[in-house]
Amino acid sequence: MIEFKQVSKVYPNGTVGLDHIHLKINKGEFVVIVGLSGAGKSTLLRSINRLHEITEGEILIDGKSITKAKGSELLRIRRDIGMIFQSFNLVKRSSVIRNVLSGRVGYHSTLRSILGLFPKRDVDLAFDALERVNIREKAYVRADQLSGGQQQRVSIARALAQEPKVILADEPVASLDPLTTQQVMDDLKRINQELGITTVVNLHFVDLARQYATRIIGLRAGAVVFDGPVSEATDEVFSEIYGRPIKKDELLGAVEA
Ligand code: ADP
Repeated sequence: MIEFKQVSKVYPNGTVGLDHIHLKINKGEFVVIVGLSGAGKSTLLRSINRLHEITEGEILIDGKSITKAKGSELLRIRRDIGMIFQSFNLVKRSSVIRNVLSGRVGYHSTLRSILGLFPKRDVDLAFDALERVNIREKAYVRADQLSGGQQQRVSIARALAQEPKVILADEPVASLDPLTTQQVMDDLKRINQELGITTVVNLHFVDLARQYATRIIGLRAGAVVFDGPVSEATDEVFSEIYGRPIKKDELLGAVEA
């Protein structure tokens, strides 16, 4: 579903963001990317939908090169990729349902989207998406009236309304308390299992990575230093990824640089 072919990214100031990444992520996988702050997790995730341009190599989505795509083809590939951000990225003063419907804009003309003329099928899809994350009753509430966890669920619903093949989540729970964190991760996992949507999540919590991933990819200085199932991601492996021993109490919390 996602293929990196010898991908590198060097920022204009010379910083190496990604260093020869070569990997395949299969349909339906729940992959967690781990690594210290600055390891390249965000660069990797954002290069998948070309929020960041890579400087070498190629990325394929479901067999199509997003690296080479232009114009309408690029829009079509991007439509297949839902994105979830740490800061939710909602239109705060708009209602929940309007935010979710904005996930449909890739399917319509700009004018139609600006006027908010969405077909009934889109509205049904948006309500179904809200149902899936258990906040259908909030449809007409303004987004900024919701708690952080509820806002993140709206952003998951917006991604779902896109009918994506892939969901990318960049530190989706970094702004949430522990209880809400579990709920949002549970939502992502359930959606992955029920709909088979390939999911890639950046996390810096060791214990969460182990709890939810089917596969863990460890990054260090822009390179893949571990790639394997959770059963192989031992404390020693995490020490390797982080470049230092992991202390016992860190397993219950964040590992910072
Ligand atoms: P992570 O998500 O693991 O914290 P990032 O992907 O954000 O890591 O960053 C990887 C490396 O690229 C870091 O050294 C970071 O400082 C650098 N970097 C990120 N964004 C930029 C940018 N816009 N310009 C220059 N360097 C950047």
